[in-house]
Amino acid sequence: MTEELDILIKGGNVLDGTGNPWLRADIGIGGGKIKRVGVISGQAKETIEASGFVVAPGFVDLHTHNDLTILAHPNAESYVMQGVTTACVGNCGLSMAPVNPANLNLLKRYLSPFLVSDFDYGWQWKTLSEYYDRVEKQGVSQNLAPLVGQGTIRLAVKGFDSGEVSQDEMATMKQLLEQSLKEGAFGMSTGLIYPPGSYSTTEEVVELAGVLARYGALYATHMRNEGDKLLESLEEAVRIGEENGVAVEVSHHKAAGKANWGKVDATLRMMEQARKRGVEINCDVYPYTAGSTTITALLPAWAQEGGVERMLERLQDREARSLMKRGFVEDTMEGENLIKAAGWDGILIGACPSNKEYEGKSLEQILRGKSELDDPYEGFFDWLLEIGGHSTMVLFHMDESDVKTVMSSPLSSIISDAWVTAPGAGGKPHPRVYGTFPRLLGKYVREEKTLSLEDAVRKVTSMSAGKLGLQNRGLVREGFWADIVVFAPDKVIDKATYDDPHQYPEGINYVIVNGEVVVEKGMLTGARPGKVLKRG
Ligand SMILES: [Zn+2]
Repeated sequence: MTEELDILIKGGNVLDGTGNPWLRADIGIGGGKIKRVGVISGQAKETIEASGFVVAPGFVDLHTHNDLTILAHPNAESYVMQGVTTACVGNCGLSMAPVNPANLNLLKRYLSPFLVSDFDYGWQWKTLSEYYDRVEKQGVSQNLAPLVGQGTIRLAVKGFDSGEVSQDEMATMKQLLEQSLKEGAFGMSTGLIYPPGSYSTTEEVVELAGVLARYGALYATHMRNEGDKLLESLEEAVRIGEENGVAVEVSHHKAAGKANWGKVDATLRMMEQARKRGVEINCDVYPYTAGSTTITALLPAWAQEGGVERMLERLQDREARSLMKRGFVEDTMEGENLIKAAGWDGILIGACPSNKEYEGKSLEQILRGKSELDDPYEGFFDWLLEIGGHSTMVLFHMDESDVKTVMSSPLSSIISDAWVTAPGAGGKPHPRVYGTFPRLLGKYVREEKTLSLEDAVRKVTSMSAGKLGLQNRGLVREGFWADIVVFAPDKVIDKATYDDPHQYPEGINYVIVNGEVVVEKGMLTGARPGKVLKRG
């Protein structure tokens, strides 16, 4: 009976991903699938003794940007070491395709803050499937479930033009979206704070998202505003889902800025009400009080129109500078005033390829020496010019109790909002890139008891897999794909910090992707059994 098994996991406490309490069982794996769950006697090619450990479905991370760095880091070190076996990619309106060759340089600029700066991508693809063929050909250690980015689609058609889309342009955008969905995309993401996505009116997004309904595909949104206009932005997201009858995922849900802390009670209530009306809306959250994005997200949308070069020109222009400054100081800027939300001392520089000495420093530290005028804004504009507008940042703008409120909600799953990196890659990325899932299980389950172990595992397995519509993943079930994580519930913890982020977690002992071991006794094996998954 057991001679056909590749792997036998013996005697673990199996949390099957449903949220049920653990059951003691062996798991037999063969041909990439879970063949048996129960008492299994006999031998397999490899036996993992799991007594005292939790054996769970591999984690399905509903919100990552791994597509932007996976070619440079195909072993997905920072992810598989956390137990993540499937990553949903293409979030926040950002995806590597579709590509309009005429706008390729604009696309590179759009994505550049998130790409690996010294890696040669080649840019030989046009469609989503061509891009993911390249990823699969190279090999990848985890499964990827792609979304297509609305910002990438709009840029292919209209560049960084902030104007309204014409009927012809809308038709082309719909066609690009439809093609991506036919190629297997699980849905469309928006990043309504990032140009050119931010130039889209609600009506434009409503119309485009109509295409999703025909495919039963997901609308995932980085909303237009997560701070002062959080409630209005959620209304917009609900409307886009409700008018089209499409499922909505509110990405990395938060209330940014002290003045808005506590608003998540209202937003979660609004989501419950929308669900009562039949809108399938959910949200996700990462277990940290700091966010991370590109430094240009601090500037108003108008200052970024036309791309980075135009933005740098404006930063040298007296009038544009004073207009920007007035928006910040009087708090009248269009878009989110993230400087107000986090404060100069709450903004840390992540990766700054041109001037690495700034990495890990706060803007307050950087600007203190810069501005003889006693005017941080003038110093800030000068500094942005110095670095060519190219840097990532970590922003401390959330409230711990809000994070816990969202994590505990029945509507939320837990996500990383990170990207693949590896020790030695440099920079000071947000620690979530290495720590999200062990932090959930160590800090929030074991230490602070914010949620139960069963519920935490459910939120990062069957719930996220179900929201995406993944087939045969997210549960420990006979016949399902053998994506499995074995961890020590009494030891699992994140080690990555803001000061020292390139640290693997502890307590994740084995990770299996499609029946192959990618982490063995806490060490990477270098195997690349991952697949690019397709909807349906
Ligand atoms: Zn985002």
